[in-house]
Amino acid sequence: MGAGQLTIDLDAIASNWAALNALSDDRVETAAVIKADAYGLSARMVAPRLREAGVRTFFVATAEEGVALRPVAGDADIFVFSGHMDGDTELVERADLIPLLNAPEQVTRHFSKSAGRPFGVQLDTGMNRLGIEHDDWRALSSELMDAGPRLVMSHLACADEPDHPMNAQQLRTFHDMTDGIAHRRSLAATGGILLGPEYHFEMTRPGVGLYGGLPFADATPVVQLDLPVIQTRIVRPFETVGYGNSWAAKVESCIATVSSGYADGLIRAMGPKATVWAGATPCPVVGRVSMDLITVDVTHLSTVPDKLTILGSEQKVDDLADAAGTIGYEILTSLGARYQRTYV
Ligand SMILES: *Cc1c(COP(=O)(O)O)cnc(C)c1O
Repeated sequence: MGAGQLTIDLDAIASNWAALNALSDDRVETAAVIKADAYGLSARMVAPRLREAGVRTFFVATAEEGVALRPVAGDADIFVFSGHMDGDTELVERADLIPLLNAPEQVTRHFSKSAGRPFGVQLDTGMNRLGIEHDDWRALSSELMDAGPRLVMSHLACADEPDHPMNAQQLRTFHDMTDGIAHRRSLAATGGILLGPEYHFEMTRPGVGLYGGLPFADATPVVQLDLPVIQTRIVRPFETVGYGNSWAAKVESCIATVSSGYADGLIRAMGPKATVWAGATPCPVVGRVSMDLITVDVTHLSTVPDKLTILGSEQKVDDLADAAGTIGYEILTSLGARYQRTYV
């Protein structure tokens, strides 16, 4: 079998949800963010397991994602971060989605095209990415609050840095904008949950922590990615390996060529800083990552296994992300379509 083998541990996702849920008070609902096809791990597989674990509310990025999620989400609430876009009305109704209105035009659109249907409100508290701005909020809030939003939320820009002053500043702004309203509020994603109870309000919205990524350092790893060894060869001193001759052997070396490359999300930039593992033994990547193949120095192994592991307990998504100069979120959401996926 020539394809990389991706094993996704659904129980680990459920236990990460339970662990994040346990970090907030019993009165706080812990939802689950399942956008980008559950961070690349398949919303269709992940959602039912999270429902079993006790999740009652999901968040997705777009109405299209919500439509795809509905058949496996049971009667859970599905909120849509991008709100009510032009063309979304039919999707919102068909899949019973709850758009998070982000701007005055979205409020107008929702109230004229979907009057009486559920909605939430996303406020901008300083990130300047999505959400109703302070002045618009002042003009619209009484109309919006009278219509009864299902949630009033905002998003933190720096929650992965607990000491960043932006956290307290956004918390203050969120209080200023929403104190006294009679509706549920939400500010915290994974990072915000870890900042402590004053960030939890009535609902938290973890994403990456469910899937084993930082900033939830205590997460159980969720993915294992094993790359079959296609062939091995002996490379003599001064011979080179791969495109651009970027690596040359100093001593006689054994090089394994494994299946998977940048077309599978193992981004080229990780190149020579990356490591793959034979069980607990690290093996350095040598030469450039190519589209379908990676070359690995296995000289120090007494026997070369059938496959080498690039994601697992020895190397988590954030370790691999470090080698590539990116974040675990990008490693997860880049996991390729060619892998043979197994859900356990
Ligand atoms: C992606 C996202 C989340 C989840 O964030 P994580 O850092 O993955 O926990 C929550 N809220 C909003 C608005 C988001 O865009």
